[in-house]
Amino acid sequence: MTSATSARAFDLVIFDCDGVLVDSERISSREFAALLCEIGLDFTPQRSCETFMGHSMPRCMEIVTELLGHAPPDDLLARYHANMTVAMTRELQPVPGIVAVLDALDRAQLPYAVASNGEHTKMQTTLGVTGLRARFEGKRFSSLDVPRPKPAPDLFLHAAERMGVSPSRCVVIEDSPLGVAGAYAAGMSVIGYADLMSAERLLAAGAREVITDLTALHALLELDDVRQIT
Ligand SMILES: [Mg+2]
Repeated sequence: MTSATSARAFDLVIFDCDGVLVDSERISSREFAALLCEIGLDFTPQRSCETFMGHSMPRCMEIVTELLGHAPPDDLLARYHANMTVAMTRELQPVPGIVAVLDALDRAQLPYAVASNGEHTKMQTTLGVTGLRARFEGKRFSSLDVPRPKPAPDLFLHAAERMGVSPSRCVVIEDSPLGVAGAYAAGMSVIGYADLMSAERLLAAGAREVITDLTALHALLELDDVRQIT
């Protein structure tokens, strides 16, 4: 099937940022776990991932406060951001396969955007470090733009409205149960990317299907160059 003959079921692809565009979840889970251990919480990177992945930072701080039984040190967030900036500058890479997917979308002239629970400044950094920033100029949407972060549908609905596409014509790529749930609540078709989270959790949150390799998007999105992907 070629792009010329395909009747695709979507007019916009909305990507999550962390863990879908940029391979940041391993780094953030490691750095956050290290800081939590310093303030007396017993966290491994895996537990950090399972507890905080996909949440906005304000919600993460609420969870930390609940676990501690009191507010964390005032400088915790600043130290986390400082450590992450250093680590991401050194280590951050695009998620394997995503650049080829974006190239194929560009060739097919299919619109795409990014919708993240992270702040704009964080996206500018992560997308900048990985060389993806220019692709998302004017197409970056943050939970800070809307009343409620994921798992509320607000951010996805906002992105669709700003891009001029009906929610029912959007397909969303998400790697966290929170993100999947938000896109599903927005009435969008969701493809789960099971990297650090299990396929079962993504399916339970509302993903229509789950992939473990972003290369599979070439076929699922009916892009024009499936045969060129090795
Ligand atoms: Mg994510």
